Amino acid sequence: MRQETGTARTLRLRLPGLTGHRPGQHVDVRLTAPDGYTAVRSYSVASALPGDELELTVEELADGEVSPYLVHQVAAGDQLEVRGPVGGWFVWNPADPAPVQLIAGGSGVVPLMAMIRSHGVGGSADGYAAPFRLLYSVRSPASAYYGTELDDLARSPLLTVTYVYTREAPAGSGTTPRRLDAPTLLDAILPVSDNPAFFICGATAFVETVADWLVQAGYPADRIKTERYGGTGGTP
Ligand SMILES: Cc1cc2nc3c(=O)[nH]c(=O)nc-3n(C[C@H](O)[C@H](O)[C@H](O)COP(=O)(O)OP(=O)(O)OC[C@H]3O[C@@H](n4cnc5c(N)ncnc54)[C@H](O)[C@@H]3O)c2cc1C
Repeated sequence: MRQETGTARTLRLRLPGLTGHRPGQHVDVRLTAPDGYTAVRSYSVASALPGDELELTVEELADGEVSPYLVHQVAAGDQLEVRGPVGGWFVWNPADPAPVQLIAGGSGVVPLMAMIRSHGVGGSADGYAAPFRLLYSVRSPASAYYGTELDDLARSPLLTVTYVYTREAPAGSGTTPRRLDAPTLLDAILPVSDNPAFFICGATAFVETVADWLVQAGYPADRIKTERYGGTGGTP
């Protein structure tokens, strides 16, 4: 267990029989109350661990049924009912050399981090040469996940990370917090001429708005893959 931010925690699970997963996949976690009531929620795999272990990062929604339990109550050694990893669409193929543009809103960075970790930009010399860019929209520096690790990985010329702070910018940065808009997006991402593969993940409204901006800017729709986490808020 690792606290990522004040409201998010990373859980490491061991799934007997698991032999790895594809970057971008998720698992379904089912909780069952003593009276038999069950709730199932999906959580993306954050890690790129070999073998039978994987990590999830869960953001607490204060009025949620499942996320507060996973963030505050589940303890080391507890058993969870988990199905998966599942999903064959929102996955990055590490053998694909095409440039990759990742766009995250809040906790939507989780499956994108699995892709970055699989890419191995900070590690092996024989890592793939596909350039990766991450545009990460977060409320504040304190609410960004994986900060130190992303900083380290971004020392590689193969990974560029751009943050957009919507509520609070880093102290002393001189920038004003603001929502992501189309010009800022288009300025930060790989150009149309690179024909990047897009992976966009976050709250539903964020994902749909960003995908629309990309299509309007001339990026082919068939290069854009999206994962919607739900929720009614979360515009860029
Ligand atoms: C494929 C997939 C992968 C996901 N991966 C992750 C992940 O890696 N980490 C993670 O933290 N979550 C992830 N989610 C979201 C997660 O499945 C739950 O929806 C979330 O944890 C809320 O569940 P809950 O039971 O706590 O809240 P609920 O009881 O379901 O909802 C409580 C309130 O929050 C609102 N709400 C629900 N979901 C969201 C949301 N995403 N944003 C804003 N408001 C919301 C509801 O409308 C409701 O008002 C993923 C969702 C999908 C579909």
